[in-house]
Amino acid sequence: GIDWEYAPAPESEAIARVKKRYLPFIDGKFIEGGGDDLITVNPGRAVDLATVSTVNRADLDTAVAAARRAYDGPWSALSGAERGKYLFRIARGIAERARELAVLESLDNGKPIKETRDFDVPTAAQHFFYHAGWADKLPYLGHGPAPRPLGVAGQVIPWNFPLLMAAWKIAPALAAGNTVVIKPAETTPLSILVLAEIIADADLPPGVVNVVPGAGDIGAELVNHSGIDKVAFTGSTAVGKQIQQSLAGTGRKLTLELGGKGANIVFADAALDQAVEGIVNGIFFNAGQVCCAGSRLLVQESVAEELMVRLQERAETLRVGDPLDKNTDVGAINSSAQLSKITELTEAGIAEGAQVWRSSCPLPDRGWFVSPTILTEATASMRISREEIFGPVLSVITFRTPDEALAKANNSPYGLSAGVWTEKGSRAMAMAARLQAGVIWDNTFNRFDPAAAFGGYQESGFGREGGPSGLAAYLATDDEPILAGETKE
Ligand code: NAD
Repeated sequence: GIDWEYAPAPESEAIARVKKRYLPFIDGKFIEGGGDDLITVNPGRAVDLATVSTVNRADLDTAVAAARRAYDGPWSALSGAERGKYLFRIARGIAERARELAVLESLDNGKPIKETRDFDVPTAAQHFFYHAGWADKLPYLGHGPAPRPLGVAGQVIPWNFPLLMAAWKIAPALAAGNTVVIKPAETTPLSILVLAEIIADADLPPGVVNVVPGAGDIGAELVNHSGIDKVAFTGSTAVGKQIQQSLAGTGRKLTLELGGKGANIVFADAALDQAVEGIVNGIFFNAGQVCCAGSRLLVQESVAEELMVRLQERAETLRVGDPLDKNTDVGAINSSAQLSKITELTEAGIAEGAQVWRSSCPLPDRGWFVSPTILTEATASMRISREEIFGPVLSVITFRTPDEALAKANNSPYGLSAGVWTEKGSRAMAMAARLQAGVIWDNTFNRFDPAAAFGGYQESGFGREGGPSGLAAYLATDDEPILAGETKE
């Protein structure tokens, strides 16, 4: 009966429903956790949103033990087709509760309803649909006659795409036959707990998926837990490095999806208006809080001025404001800490000599917002060109030749994403071959498909999510037992 309107009035039933107390999901039940409660905040208004019970070490042990029992028992006994049925049910459950999830995600994260409605929620459902189709086809992955799952996966996700990152982690793990203990980010635990309800309603055996809300210390306990066979982490490079170090020598499988400083490279022959759309999407989608954001614009000198005029004109049309307003293009920043980080780095760029342009769209008087910002005359050595800002702030650098563009694009410790804008197909291919980035878009940006592998190089991490390689990350592929009668080489 609740009408999950996309712009619920502050006193509406929809908001009242969101404001409840949320519980960890362990062994098929929602239970009170032993950790301190945490309060999530609605970044669009900077007011408290909901209370979440968090787990302690004992709850974590219970969750890992439940995941192990489910793995050893009912889950391993199922055929791939049967696992696939559960994944289809979860996908349909997300689609059925799409409006509610979109409103909830916008309230908890601050991203515009346009994005949660048209991207986060449908893409999460799509991810389960895609992997449901794989569950009974694993022998066709090309990793030996009977690829085996790894066991219990311990997964930690960030706050920028809370529901979608949960889908990216859970769907391939289950399709491959693993069970899961997953920890959401402390500022955005709500949508994954609704996903847990969907999973419970889909009648998955208890313990196959466990959701353990908590802060970073619980994340550290989870990834280092002796009952975990595989660790998948998405978050900052600093934490990713710590995890890699702490797992060294354990033999536990690890994939890391970390930060980025994506280069969006525009050649003089590009269709400029199309490029402008891609640049805007690349840096202002989710207010730039995107690991693969096109946060460095590399533009060929001869069109730099023209492109900047068109880009500022277009950025001026973006509506910054209430995440629940259907007309909002740029929503809120997820936390006050993130807002401070964005402000600090932007100011550092200005102090180092960059020229600043900001959209004149008025910001709401409540909540955490940043105007779309473009920093020109950036140089490679400035912090704004090297460090991830994770906000709606674009650094603009010019180049003359393709080689110079390549050198500048690759001059980064990261290596997650890049975009190439040119009408010359051969140039796009040549650039793609030499760009050190895991994802390279040609005449588009920020396009995702569950069938395509996503992941980084260098300090952006390793391992892939999505497509066959994403599934391989949850299968014993390189240590396959040799069947009797079969020889290697
Ligand atoms: P973060 O690393 O602080 O937190 C990410 C998650 O890790 C949270 O759930 C947090 O509680 C947990 N955590 C914190 N300390 C931990 C520890 N010592 N051990 C285990 N878990 C721990 O990052 P964040 O600020 O939440 O997210 C933003 C960062 O994530 C950005 O740098 C962004 O680029 C990156 N990111 C990367 C991708 C990708 O796919 N490559 C996607 C989204 C975000």
